[in-house]
Amino acid sequence: MTQKKRYGFVIDLSRCIDCRACLVACSAENSVGMPYTRIWVRDLGLEGEYPELKRAFVPYNCMHCENPPCVEVCVSGATYKDPENGLVLIDQPACIGCGFCVDACPYNARYLDRERGVADKCTGCIQRLQANQQPACVATCVGKARLFGDLNDPEAEVSQALRNARTVQRLDYEKNGVHTEPNIYFINGESLQAASILPRDPHYTPAETSWKQVLVPAVLAGVGLSFAVQAGFFTKQLVEGEKEFEE
Ligand code: SF4
Repeated sequence: MTQKKRYGFVIDLSRCIDCRACLVACSAENSVGMPYTRIWVRDLGLEGEYPELKRAFVPYNCMHCENPPCVEVCVSGATYKDPENGLVLIDQPACIGCGFCVDACPYNARYLDRERGVADKCTGCIQRLQANQQPACVATCVGKARLFGDLNDPEAEVSQALRNARTVQRLDYEKNGVHTEPNIYFINGESLQAASILPRDPHYTPAETSWKQVLVPAVLAGVGLSFAVQAGFFTKQLVEGEKEFEE
């Protein structure tokens, strides 16, 4: 199915003042308890010489990637990309809390909620979108640094902001056959090549690697074999039934 919308964020780095109202609004809206958060603000530090000093802050959350590695590795199918709008969501009752997706995300944009035993992250405040409201972080941003909308719609505020931007950057990750194509665009900022913000390689534990490379293929092969045996048995019964009927 063709994705109708491509929801994403545009973050104007020249407007973020690190007040972190977005974090508080997100946690309140989505009942995210301490010590967890679905939004981070990285301080890239001071640049330049006094009195020509600059300081940059980079707010971010789940990038709602076009090709999300977290979805690729999800063994239970709980993590999926919404076919209507492209948001990457988690069906939490289906999540088994293995943490594979947390380690697969190059942006550290997920966490494992140990109390509830499930993975969690930004949902774009899907419950607010369904009520025709903006995500809580966007609605509360005092500097109007955060915009959200359909990047496929040329008239949307996000598309207009991208067209008018002085600079446009994405924290794209492309390596080992993975190409994330994130749906957060950072505009009007200096270079984002700072170590604290750059995507990192997935880091699976030995247990996760064996789960993925041995156990999951073994379980799938077992299910496939059992299906094939049952199908063969069913066909045999059908053929024998036909013969008996003809006699
Ligand atoms: Fe998945 Fe991480 Fe991309 Fe979000 S940023 S879609 S959690 S890989």
